[in-house]
Amino acid sequence: MNKNLIKNYNASEIEKIVLDLGHKKFRATQLMNELYSQRKTDFAEMKTLPGDLRNALAEKYEAGSFAETTKTVSKDGTVKILFAMHDGNAVETVMIPEISNDPERKDRYSLCVSSQVGCSLDCAFCATGKLGFKRNLEASEIIDQLIYAEKLIDIKMTNIVYMGMGEPFLNIDNVFKSIRTFSNPSVGLMPAKRITVSTSGIVPGIEALADNFKRIKLAISLHATTDIVREKIVPAARKWDLKAIGEAIEYYYHNTKIPLTFEYILFDGLNDSEDDAKRLARISRRVMSKVNLIPYHSIDFTNPEGIAAELKPASSRTIMRFADSLRAKKVTTIIRSSSGEDIAAACGQLAFSKQNTYNAK
Ligand code: SAH
Ligand code: SF4
Repeated sequence: MNKNLIKNYNASEIEKIVLDLGHKKFRATQLMNELYSQRKTDFAEMKTLPGDLRNALAEKYEAGSFAETTKTVSKDGTVKILFAMHDGNAVETVMIPEISNDPERKDRYSLCVSSQVGCSLDCAFCATGKLGFKRNLEASEIIDQLIYAEKLIDIKMTNIVYMGMGEPFLNIDNVFKSIRTFSNPSVGLMPAKRITVSTSGIVPGIEALADNFKRIKLAISLHATTDIVREKIVPAARKWDLKAIGEAIEYYYHNTKIPLTFEYILFDGLNDSEDDAKRLARISRRVMSKVNLIPYHSIDFTNPEGIAAELKPASSRTIMRFADSLRAKKVTTIIRSSSGEDIAAACGQLAFSKQNTYNAK
């Protein structure tokens, strides 16, 4: 399979493709419309285009990124979709619904998209890391996670978070391309301000996001308040310490004026002390921000070794106490729920589920 994925190209590149095939410029607008408004993933179905253009496009390009899709629904409404690509690789995407009881507040449907097949960073607590790195996703493969998910679940997503498999800032070109397409108003997929990129602390990526986009949100997977502890569980910390991350988030905040989110998994006895709460408050006060406390989702199904085998979730009492302590220090703090844990769709559990990947070993 060596056809190019058509959604890797932006509007002006699509125009050139159409002109080079000997067709008029307005056909490019029609093609964009078929791809993004009509969400057609097969050129043959694009009836607004003349047959010879449809055939010429199909010879060279692929309109849809995925060969196969498998949907799993959790009892709490979370949906996990496995996307198989044309080269035999696969990634997972998760839709997390937040249904509001308050008529004033709209329901949220967040789509958690993957940016890589596997991940090279191997954070101690993360199932994706245990898979190792397979390859970067192309821009089209990121964009199509939204297009296919909306069709498969029959819901208009309200938010996109780059919190699926992979480290977005280690695939920066394709991630930025996908953000440009998502947030292009004439394409109409997702307003920029509803897109969040999550990183384990890749400093050049944080700076590049701030240089290239003014409305995209940033989440930092902090998980520790000292370099010694952070280096044990987040390998990227050996390259970029807390000082470097602190400077990068100030750079981001001064360029964008968008409040940041810190992600913090609470591990029993490792990062859940009162001193940790104090240090976390100090770090988070450097810029406008909030802290998301995440319960640790077990990844025992990966047969973890070393420090990974020692990690235990903090109790709900500890999580409450830690949250109270942060709030007393005027830090906006949210305790995240564990959506989709029953189908291994919770944060960091994305590893093609226990059955497919780990029993095979
Ligand atoms: N690579 C990026 C984005 C993908 S991970 C990053 O690390 O930020 C998305 C989020 O899930 C991160 O905050 C990550 O730290 C968290 N996570 C990973 N494994 C987890 C686990 N077992 N339990 C809870 N959260 C986890
Ligand atoms: Fe990669 Fe993020 Fe998982 Fe770390 S937490 S291994 S950076 S996907």
